[in-house]
Amino acid sequence: MRIGVPRESSPSETRVAATPSTVPQLLKLGYDVVVERGAGERADFPDTAYAEAGASFGTSQEVWASDVVLSCNPPTDDELALMSPGATLVSMLSPALHPEVAERYADAGISALSLDAVPRISRAQSLDVLSSMANIAGYRAVIEAAQAYGGMFTGQVTAAGKVPPAQVFVVGAGVAGLAAIGIAGSMGAQVRAFDVRPEVGEQIESMGATFVEVGAVDTTVSSDGYAKEMSADQAELAARMYAEESRNADIVITTAQIRGKAAPILLTAEMIAAMKPGSVIVDMAASTGGNTALTRADEKVVTDNGVTIIGWTDLAGRLPRQASQLFGTNLVNLLKLVTPAKDGQLVLDFDDEVVRSMTVTRKGAVTWPPPPVKVS
Ligand code: NAD
Repeated sequence: MRIGVPRESSPSETRVAATPSTVPQLLKLGYDVVVERGAGERADFPDTAYAEAGASFGTSQEVWASDVVLSCNPPTDDELALMSPGATLVSMLSPALHPEVAERYADAGISALSLDAVPRISRAQSLDVLSSMANIAGYRAVIEAAQAYGGMFTGQVTAAGKVPPAQVFVVGAGVAGLAAIGIAGSMGAQVRAFDVRPEVGEQIESMGATFVEVGAVDTTVSSDGYAKEMSADQAELAARMYAEESRNADIVITTAQIRGKAAPILLTAEMIAAMKPGSVIVDMAASTGGNTALTRADEKVVTDNGVTIIGWTDLAGRLPRQASQLFGTNLVNLLKLVTPAKDGQLVLDFDDEVVRSMTVTRKGAVTWPPPPVKVS
């Protein structure tokens, strides 16, 4: 079978789904690889490097007409129309948030695998694009915050006086939150963090940050390894804590998400109005509505009281080389799973819970939603 790797058509997308170092691994699995010219340009991977890696080149039409298409973003209508019935699309399709997308791929007669539907179980870690992108994005969120914040992160004692360390508050200590905690701490900030899952307290503390607690909270996670929603009582206790933490913080990084739902709004306009002038919020949940009442996706908002709220939804893409490399490696791991004979033939084995979970349509039939998966 032939794998096609398009140049992403979204002008804001910098990443590419295969790199010169993942192409040979795809070839080793028995596939031919055809790359659209310029596909890796925005991530600093020139065509010459793909050619050396063994890829061939094709037009956008040829790439989208491949047996298997790997892309970072879902296809536009024009791109989808180029796919042949029976072909397989691997991309970020968001079926949990928008189940109606399944019909789109069913109508095209294709098999559609959604990378954002990989269950968070140990066996699937190596192909979990959401985790690898969240890790990079958490790093980048701190860099964005540092740039917007007019101060040093680290405290200093100088002949001209003392500079206190920046106070950073991180909301949600999943993959992105833990990455942000680590980086902010290593830059010298004093970091405090909250999560509805108390079991992450140990991880937060082991990174040298302070775990903020708000009394009894639900310790359960849903069967796919993601957090569940808070009860009304827990939310009220948490709201008081958010008001206090945000008032004292120089930088707030929010990462709270409940999978498949709009992001919970945790910081109200009132809380933000009480924050210090010059303080910065990086809201990583901007693409699903944001964790603050004032976040606007892909915008930088400066409030009347001088608080900057950054809502970039492309944080991983702001480090395009490494993001593409990890994305591409996750895809190689997925292809290893669905190419058991290493013969270039993709097989969707529904007895495999990872494959089953991420399949939205199979040969034109809607298979979404999948049965729940047990966390391991
Ligand atoms: P994750 O599921 O690993 O972590 C989310 C954490 O939030 C969990 O630990 C969960 O317990 C916690 N949480 C849920 N509800 C909460 C609440 N009400 N209060 C406090 N904590 C709560 O997710 P992740 O992979 O770390 O991603 C985090 C967010 O970052 C997601 O919204 C994701 O879409 C986003 N993200 C953004 C970018 C970007 O460019 N902006 C890139 C990658 C990921």
